[in-house]
Amino acid sequence: MGIQNSLLNQIKPEVRKQHPYKVGVPPGHINVKLNQNESPFDLPSELREAVISAWREIAFNRYPTEQPADLAKIIADYIGWDERGIILGNGSNELTYTLGLALINPNSRVVLPRPMFSFYERVVNIYGGEIMSIAPRKNLQFDIDAVLDAVTRTEPSIVVITTPNNPTSLVVPQEEIKSIAEATSGLVLIDEAYIEFAEEPSLLSVLNQFPNVILLRTFSKAFGLAGLRLGYLIGDPNLMSEIMKVRPPFMIDRFSICVVKELLKHTDLIHSRTKWIRSETRRLTQALKQLKGVHVLEGQANFVTFQVSCDSQALFRALAGSGVLVRDMSGYSELKGFLRVTTGTSDENREFLRALTVAIP
Ligand SMILES: *Cc1c(COP(=O)(O)O)cnc(C)c1O
Repeated sequence: MGIQNSLLNQIKPEVRKQHPYKVGVPPGHINVKLNQNESPFDLPSELREAVISAWREIAFNRYPTEQPADLAKIIADYIGWDERGIILGNGSNELTYTLGLALINPNSRVVLPRPMFSFYERVVNIYGGEIMSIAPRKNLQFDIDAVLDAVTRTEPSIVVITTPNNPTSLVVPQEEIKSIAEATSGLVLIDEAYIEFAEEPSLLSVLNQFPNVILLRTFSKAFGLAGLRLGYLIGDPNLMSEIMKVRPPFMIDRFSICVVKELLKHTDLIHSRTKWIRSETRRLTQALKQLKGVHVLEGQANFVTFQVSCDSQALFRALAGSGVLVRDMSGYSELKGFLRVTTGTSDENREFLRALTVAIP
């Protein structure tokens, strides 16, 4: 046992410094799972049957296409964009690695306003980029003035904006995103994992005016397909065809292609579920605001992030002890004392609120 250090030192120092990505799950039985911003709704059984019959015809022994152009076309038509300006990935997180590979050199400067989905910091570090971290405003909104200041002072290669932002659910107004895109000579990546839940519009409608902006989307949240791993980038076709060159072929398996094709035939279902989750999130927000010692961030996603005046980690464990799993946000320096709860079904949300009321001292 015990591998030699000289061997471990073959691993790049940027990688060795990292910690494994782990979702904290305390021991015990969980029956209300509200910790990963998943959709509470699985595919309806008719759709599942349709997928399974289509799947019977699919050859397991054959490669899928290098890049699934037919699915890119379907998504392009769904969102209203040029199919050549879309790159599909095995989950949107995998596309973040693609962007890192294509865009980040050692010394590349990347502007990351805080508090932001921690995966970005990890990817920039692994590729050896330099992070320009921007502290938030008092209300935990991204400080766009400070972002603009960093952009003009340091000329970064990339600015990343997540809107609605995970972990806070807060949105960045479209005008502010435009001002960043206009100010920078580099690229702007906008992570729109939760955009389907937002009232603030996506930049997509004016994206052709901003060839330096790339949007990142996912099927994991509003579309309820986290288990399948499909995400996509949207951008200028010329930019996308360059980025495409670093993609390994065959990253999208035949099953994901099959399911997404089937699901996108049912846009009414997607829209009605999204609408329900939006209104249920507002209800959950209102209910949390009624509780003493709870401070709620009012955002536009499928989750609610809130601060408690008691010990948040003890509360997290007490909730898990009663079978309700939320997310402890204390790993983010600005979010000490915060928890995050995903909007679930009505029953799950009721159970969460009941358990919370009992557990709050
Ligand atoms: C959930 C989430 C994603 C989605 O990741 P996938 O790899 O597509 O499942 C991307 N960005 C943010 C900020 C998220 O919260």
